[in-house]
Amino acid sequence: MAQSFNRLESVLQLEAKQGYKNTAVVGGIRQFVNFWVSQARDEAIDEADRAFVEQTAELLTDYAKLPGWEARARVVDRLLEKLEQRTARLARQTPTRTPAPQTARVERREKVVVQQRVQELELELENEEDWEDADDEDYDSDYEDDDLEDDEEDIEDAFELPPPPPAIDLPRKAPNPAGLNQPVTAIHGVGPRIGSLLAKLGATTIWELLYLFPRRYDDYSVMKPINRLQYGEQVTVIGTVWEVRARRNRHNQTIIHAVVSDGSGKIQVTWFNQAWLINKLKAGLRIVMQGKVDKYLGRLVFNNPEWEMLSLDSLRTGTIVPIYPLTQGLGSHRLRQMMRGVVEEWGPALPDPLPAEMCERLNLYRLPQAIYQNHLPASGEALVAARRRVIFDELFLLQLGMMGQRRDWQAEPARPCDLTSPLRDQFISQLPYTLTNAQERIIGEITADMARDVPMNRLLQGDVGAGKTVVAAAAMLTAVSAAPHAQAALMAPTEILAEQHYQGLSELMEPLGLKLILLTGSLGTVAKRDALTAIADGSAQIIVGTHALIQEGVTFANLGLAVIDEQHRFGVDQRAALRDKGPNSLTPHVLVMSATPIPRTLALSLYGDLDFSALDEMPPGRQEIKTHWLRPRERERGYAFVRGQVQKGQQAYVICPLVEESDKIEAVAAVEEYERLQNEIFPDLRLGLVHGKLKSDEKEEAMRQFKQGEIDVLVATSVIEVGVDVPNSTVMIIEGANRFGLAQLHQFRGRVGRGQHQSYCLLIADETTPEAEERLTALEETNDGFQLAEKDLELRGPGEFFGRRQSGLPELKLASLTDMTMLQLARQEAEQLIAADPYLEQPEHALLQERVQAFWASAGDVS
Ligand code: ADP
Ligand code: MG
Repeated sequence: MAQSFNRLESVLQLEAKQGYKNTAVVGGIRQFVNFWVSQARDEAIDEADRAFVEQTAELLTDYAKLPGWEARARVVDRLLEKLEQRTARLARQTPTRTPAPQTARVERREKVVVQQRVQELELELENEEDWEDADDEDYDSDYEDDDLEDDEEDIEDAFELPPPPPAIDLPRKAPNPAGLNQPVTAIHGVGPRIGSLLAKLGATTIWELLYLFPRRYDDYSVMKPINRLQYGEQVTVIGTVWEVRARRNRHNQTIIHAVVSDGSGKIQVTWFNQAWLINKLKAGLRIVMQGKVDKYLGRLVFNNPEWEMLSLDSLRTGTIVPIYPLTQGLGSHRLRQMMRGVVEEWGPALPDPLPAEMCERLNLYRLPQAIYQNHLPASGEALVAARRRVIFDELFLLQLGMMGQRRDWQAEPARPCDLTSPLRDQFISQLPYTLTNAQERIIGEITADMARDVPMNRLLQGDVGAGKTVVAAAAMLTAVSAAPHAQAALMAPTEILAEQHYQGLSELMEPLGLKLILLTGSLGTVAKRDALTAIADGSAQIIVGTHALIQEGVTFANLGLAVIDEQHRFGVDQRAALRDKGPNSLTPHVLVMSATPIPRTLALSLYGDLDFSALDEMPPGRQEIKTHWLRPRERERGYAFVRGQVQKGQQAYVICPLVEESDKIEAVAAVEEYERLQNEIFPDLRLGLVHGKLKSDEKEEAMRQFKQGEIDVLVATSVIEVGVDVPNSTVMIIEGANRFGLAQLHQFRGRVGRGQHQSYCLLIADETTPEAEERLTALEETNDGFQLAEKDLELRGPGEFFGRRQSGLPELKLASLTDMTMLQLARQEAEQLIAADPYLEQPEHALLQERVQAFWASAGDVS
């Protein structure tokens, strides 16, 4: 999205907020428009845009002269509306990726200038005796990592597996590899204090230290004089701080403004929310900044650039300087020097788990070379190749681990279930609706899987509300009819959801003569004992529960199928634990379900151990949920709308803002909101409340009342997020919508639109950032979970998106799960290797096997 249009929008919004007093911009709207027009003309992408720019110019030039605030409000509203239409229009056009900013190419002349500048600086620095003392020892890192991600993308886009640049000479005499496992304190000059700081960064042994990679690199070859900066480019600048000022904005965030000059020119630099900088950045300080050149009111600026104090060694070590992650008490200067020593001494000792043949065939550096060049890159190309090798390793180990798991699971037999099941047929025929084609197809796939004596291991993925539960139910009946006392279990992430599944399934299955049991952590002692007995003696055939199912002391008589709902809420360990509840000699079939839609290729790579079914058809009659983002001042309209729906006999949810710091505060806030709504807004309606701090029978009771229509409006915190199904509810208000992630908002919204009636979702943000704005707009524009997932991936990056803790994957230091080229390469190589040597038993694979184990063991720590 073009910057100038965004900027106009924020200025107009601010102007509206401030009551149309022509105060949104210093100097007045007219001044702003003068700057704005030329940039906007450049950024306009079609005729409509150009017309809009001219119209805006005309309307706003005389803004100050308009008679009264109403006239101004009309103009502002009209323009805002046009901007909204523009966004919608752009979204309809095929999305084209904005080209990455051109990598800055330094012209020859500039390079000379830069080199001269470097020499001058070297001289100056050498003359500053107290320089080394002014080290950034206790320099705290509050950096955002956004810029780094951009860098990574650029580097990865360049992947085509070309041969790496020639290897550089590493010291010949490598120390004994066994020494790599020594604690970092074995390194000369590293005592317990530094040792504990390094541990904070994740390195306790020398080996781990070698894998403590720079978080970015300052490339002195793309260093530019300030007067030659161009809008949008990513550059490094060396300069002297002239002045520093701090102020607070309306949200009470500290904003630091600095002016930095390098002799050729000066530039305004702004840091948001980094109050501590005021004590660090002093006039006269020489710094290196790296970031993207931005524009504000027509002038070039830096926003939130990375920076550090200039030091002599950076200038001398060569063009590419590694910047390591920082921790309080360990200065970057110090760390860099230490790492250099460690890498030079120990890098060559690293044994390479990949066979030489493979490295050669795939154009990969050998490991010691790759590690060395990651820390001390000889050139940009060498760095790319070095990173590529480490990335390949990570993805390869990931794939080998997953394939190994699949191999192990499949080695144990499962009980084959008959293809036909009268129980299942009866169940399907008594449903109040007919199955969709997709549901039938997948039930067929599952039945075929379960008929084999190899355990099924299938992922059922379908958007919120696609009807996964009934597919699971059919599979459960297939299992139950397989043998006397055969059982099926369904594990859900929350008590509310388990309870709901239990109710729903009981209604449908008890008439078939089956016994269902609910097992959750909050059962009373007697009820729990009875449940455990029924599970153990096989009298309960269908068991629904939470994590309580996998606790010790829960013994199944004969578990034939384990279903895991909302699987992303569980770690691998928990999924494995349920699988282990099978009878001694047999492994149960496993079906995991997820509403997180991910591209198929990605799913294959991520869940390489699973087969995959996509429930890609919604039950008929579903209408799009109409989603509107309301301004806070339109809240009353939202309430009136809720009232209207309730009068028609429908029900509503009000979701309270997320409070990340504490469940307790969140619960208190929810109670307050509930009271406010009940007393002031809806005194005549029946309100209910659920939040995370309620006892589970209280939660259950509220849900039951809501389900039975005894409550009109349910006020809830995020506990309501997954799975809850009350088809009569047609409107949801989400307060503090900006605080939730896209996937979560989509999940919330999926609580309405489950029946035949047109449903609505009203979003209210308590603060907006450009990113929140994008999320909420995306939600307004589409109901398609798949599209939203892609948007989410784009906005948050893969790490956040998948939530490593929840997915139970090992930590990936450099690799990205969206890097399809490398993922596919790794997958293909892993497949070949496993086919040739299933247990990695051949001597040349021994080291590899060891690394796979260690890599996956690290995943165990986090899930
Ligand atoms: P999810 O995939 O999100 O778990 P559910 O299984 O909770 O979705 O189903 C959502 C709603 O759709 C439920 O009320 C369910 O009864 C209903 N449903 C499921 N399949 C069909 C169908 N084929 N026709 C009509 N309604 C269906
Ligand atoms: Mg569900």
